[in-house]
Amino acid sequence: MTTLSQAISWTAHGFASFFYVTSPADAVEDVHKVPKYLVHALPFFAIAIVIEFLVSLGHDRKKRYFRLNDSFSSITAGILQQLSTFFLRGIEIASYIWVYDNFNLIKLDWSAPSTYWLCFLGVDLGYYLFHRYAHEINLFWAAHVVHHSSENYNLTTALRQSVFQTYTSWFFYLPLALAIPPSIFAIHRQFDTLYQFWIHTELVGSLGPLEWILNTPSHHRVHHGRNRYCIDKNYAGTLIIWDRLFGTFASEDEPVVYGLTHPIGTWDPLWTQVHHIVHIAQKVYAVPGIGNKLSALFKGPGWVPGSERLGDPNGIPDVRAPWPQYDTTLPSFLSLYVCAHFVLVMIGFTLLASVRSHLPVLFVNGLALYLLYSLTSFGAMFDRKKYAFAMEISRIILFLVLELGFWYGYGDEFVFLWYRDPSVPGYVHRPLKAVRAFYIFSGLWLVGRFFFFSFYGQPEVEEKLQQQQQQLEKPQSAEASSTTAATTDSSVSNDASEKAPTRPHKSVKAE
Ligand SMILES: [Zn+2]
Ligand SMILES: [Zn+2]
Repeated sequence: MTTLSQAISWTAHGFASFFYVTSPADAVEDVHKVPKYLVHALPFFAIAIVIEFLVSLGHDRKKRYFRLNDSFSSITAGILQQLSTFFLRGIEIASYIWVYDNFNLIKLDWSAPSTYWLCFLGVDLGYYLFHRYAHEINLFWAAHVVHHSSENYNLTTALRQSVFQTYTSWFFYLPLALAIPPSIFAIHRQFDTLYQFWIHTELVGSLGPLEWILNTPSHHRVHHGRNRYCIDKNYAGTLIIWDRLFGTFASEDEPVVYGLTHPIGTWDPLWTQVHHIVHIAQKVYAVPGIGNKLSALFKGPGWVPGSERLGDPNGIPDVRAPWPQYDTTLPSFLSLYVCAHFVLVMIGFTLLASVRSHLPVLFVNGLALYLLYSLTSFGAMFDRKKYAFAMEISRIILFLVLELGFWYGYGDEFVFLWYRDPSVPGYVHRPLKAVRAFYIFSGLWLVGRFFFFSFYGQPEVEEKLQQQQQQLEKPQSAEASSTTAATTDSSVSNDASEKAPTRPHKSVKAE
């Protein structure tokens, strides 16, 4: 019974953390004793995604709330963001503590409810400001663009995060360090992030009077929209009041088309992370004069020489739902193959994240690189790249070779042909043996498919898909051609007439 009540309490706390359920009673003095609310919530992210997926099945049969390739791409971005924290971490809290220790004006009482609620407002305002500038300054947009690159809108979208974003956001919170203790800041930063998970859904409609005060699924849908009325709106974290106060609020009107005004058109996890950085480098190189080069970095993503700071709003493609999405299809068994290996990668990542402090650095780095290579290979398959087969087979061979040698026992011992060592415990040996067998079996199947069948399916299936795609684009292309594209930066070789949203091309304007 005790175990049952503990489990119920654990579950209740997990889900409650999505809704900012906290009080001054949770305050602690020592920043190192602040609970890891985000880590505790991880299993509930997974449970909530499964629940949303199941509910969406019975919601609107014609609508595809989830797409395998899109969800893969979102979860992958979340994994990469977490992997990056293995190597560079803590800039936000470290800088906060440093400012608090050296420059604080007043030390507010950590246990006072007023400090707690002041911090709640301060963190949320800090988030609003960071988020607004993440959209209005091209260099910051280069990081935040990752979060907006999904053309779907579901709970997996919330996990789609940038590796670089923390380096463009930490300084927005530093003014709070002049008065508010780091422990209280660390609590609210986590809840402010957690709150923004559940609002990434299309399954929740209007929430009545709550829409006045809180950031809601409806408000955040607008933020993720690329319809003209959605552009640069609703930057809120938890409270929508900041948008209402500062004139950036828009309520949900016509159905939202999600994603970037110029979709990236790929499932490649690395390109998703860096594409806008590359684009900015090209833009800075292309525009003449130091003033223009600085503007290309620090003005809006839609800025071009001669335009206003944030570019011309009339140049944003005038899209209306339903709008074609970048999509690719894999044969069922190949999809199943990628899913199974993706699950293994997620398990590998979770294990690595939980025990890495006990493992040698070389092993952690090596495995992190292997996970990155794996995710890139899956992305190449979803993109139906020709080189994906070679990449995937090399990934499988690499696994089998590396698995012959293994660090185990939380030690620094590297053992070649480790599984012959009788001291290796069964709980390590047995699962790895099963994984090894699965890699061999699925690898052979992949080779067989490549040499005896068409890897991505029969050519006629391919042609049929292309025809469907063209039909889908037809009605919109006539409409799209009636709009202008002044946000398009001709100096960076984007064709002003280029509107077909399913084609991969450079992202120019923030949505
Ligand atoms: Zn945003
Ligand atoms: Zn979002």
